[in-house]
Amino acid sequence: MASTTFKQLSELKELIARYWGIDTLRPLQEPAMQAVLEGRDSLVVLPTGGGKSLCYQAPAALRGDTTVVISPLISLMKDQVDGLKSCGINAIQLDSSQTSAERHEYVRDIRSGVIRLLFVSPERLIQTDLCDLLRQIDVRTFAIDEAHCISQWGHDFRPEYRQLAKLRESFPRASMHAYTATATEPVRRDIVEQLGLVRPEILVGDFDRPNLTYRVVSRRGTMIKQVMDIIDRHRGEGGIVYCLRRADVDEITAQLVKKGVKAMPYHAGLGPEQRCATQDAFTAEECDVVVATVAFGMGIDRSNVRYVLHAAMPKSLEHYQQETGRAGRDGLEAECVLLHGGADFFTWKSIIEKSGAEPEVDPSFVAHSMQHLKEMDNYCRGAACRHKLLVRYFGQAYQSESCSACDICFGDTIAVENSIEIAQMILSCVARVKEHYGIGHCVSILRGENTENIRLRGHDKLSTYGLLRDHSAENIRDWVYQLISQDVLIQENIGELGRNIPILRLNQGSWEVMRKQRLVRLLQPVKHGKDEQVKRSKADATSWEGVDRELFDTLRQLRRTLAEERHVPPYVIFTDATLRELARVRPSKLERMRKIYGIGDSKLLAFGEIFLDALVHDCRTRGIALDVGK
Ligand code: ADP
Repeated sequence: MASTTFKQLSELKELIARYWGIDTLRPLQEPAMQAVLEGRDSLVVLPTGGGKSLCYQAPAALRGDTTVVISPLISLMKDQVDGLKSCGINAIQLDSSQTSAERHEYVRDIRSGVIRLLFVSPERLIQTDLCDLLRQIDVRTFAIDEAHCISQWGHDFRPEYRQLAKLRESFPRASMHAYTATATEPVRRDIVEQLGLVRPEILVGDFDRPNLTYRVVSRRGTMIKQVMDIIDRHRGEGGIVYCLRRADVDEITAQLVKKGVKAMPYHAGLGPEQRCATQDAFTAEECDVVVATVAFGMGIDRSNVRYVLHAAMPKSLEHYQQETGRAGRDGLEAECVLLHGGADFFTWKSIIEKSGAEPEVDPSFVAHSMQHLKEMDNYCRGAACRHKLLVRYFGQAYQSESCSACDICFGDTIAVENSIEIAQMILSCVARVKEHYGIGHCVSILRGENTENIRLRGHDKLSTYGLLRDHSAENIRDWVYQLISQDVLIQENIGELGRNIPILRLNQGSWEVMRKQRLVRLLQPVKHGKDEQVKRSKADATSWEGVDRELFDTLRQLRRTLAEERHVPPYVIFTDATLRELARVRPSKLERMRKIYGIGDSKLLAFGEIFLDALVHDCRTRGIALDVGK
């Protein structure tokens, strides 16, 4: 095992600049690439968008042999192969969709040694003919993408990944490099063990995504207005709306389409053709919004997703991180909004309990899943900086006091001044109705509503009747859930007349609050003025700084046309970050254009002239200055 020389490293950096148009490496990319070049096993954990692919792609382009990349999905492989080809690097994929003539041709290319990166699925890799071929050409490097799929502890276990355990035996001289965005300790240990990594270099990146703005908002009514508000903030941009149920996906898609939004559905109940059509349209930027269940996940490589909206709470922070991780992969600002309702917790609880009752399920499943769910719920109800909570969850420290990019730090919610008194009113109301009623009824009593239900039971005579009449039902409901999350109130299902009815119950903590022995804090949203702008993060403001939006749109349209002609996704031509820099710097010559982020030699040759023409023409027509800054 040779250590990388200074010369090799500078050659590598020069190659990255030439092929990818990237001048600075991101954190941990350099040591990750060094491990590959030196043939030392490695496990690289970087968040989504952290730049894992470059860690194996660039060394593969530098070494003159073939690196084999194992990837779980055809679509993921295709995106990478397209991207590499557009940078001028020879890459292919072997998959079940190819004809035997194509396969023949590929085998010939592999044998001749011209292929720098070969993408395969784990099932395909362990077939003897391919294994023999790879041994003949003496493959020395394996990169395992989405490596958490090998672990049962991960959120996306794929049994076929287990077969990779045999790789070490079949290729004893090769080094293996695992890449994942899932950071928990048990998953990491499992990956190392399953793959038989030998003294691996373990590189764990920073889990904060400063370009993402996180917000948790109480879900109101049918929520379509809330969904539309967010979509309106991002008209024409790419976004994903995650729903819990397939029926919600269909319903929201229909409503959005009616309102003129280019939205398409995605869930496991749709046929493969429809799912493919949605994914392709989204990638090609013909569709702006995908409304989906979590089935829409891996394989979305569109880097300019500008918002991820959760119409309901996911079941764990890992899922949340993974799903929101699909926003802003290009490093530009993006917004993640979670519409939270108190019922989400109970919906998941009953799903988990049902799955736990299946005969083949591990006995620890329910306890594990409930723990994850509780953590997710606490995150939603908490009053601490969202970035800090997420980063801490993944076992890392968060240094700054405020992230300036979440609802809490923006001050979207504030602590209610008389929290303790309000909590006491709610709890005594539950006590007065003898812990026999659900949230809706208690809220009605506290608001002093004059309903038949209340009169019939004499609840209008209770001392708590009308105590919170000055507050909205939505706020009171939120506070009830906040008390539940602070463990001073319980919501429990009782089986009555064959139905599961959730009722409110008191516990030790409730009495402590009522006796003023325990503090609680309640929050409520701040009312913004009608014309007040939604607060924006620093990343949001700065990434548009100096960008001529009209020119950006013109270049984006040109990119879409070129992508269509070439049957590739638009971001394979240029990412949004590149287009924004073009629309900011507005170079007048090809040499200046080459200095723009993301424009390497190969892309300059392929697209330089055409983008330059469009750019110069647009600027001259509108009298906009060229060659700004650089
Ligand atoms: P991951 O696999 O970790 O989710 P990718 O490898 O898809 O992330 O990278 C996300 C985006 O970041 C891609 O568009 C990639 O070209 C870009 N990228 C990678 N490394 C760098 C870098 N050092 N500087 C700027 N952009 C980078």
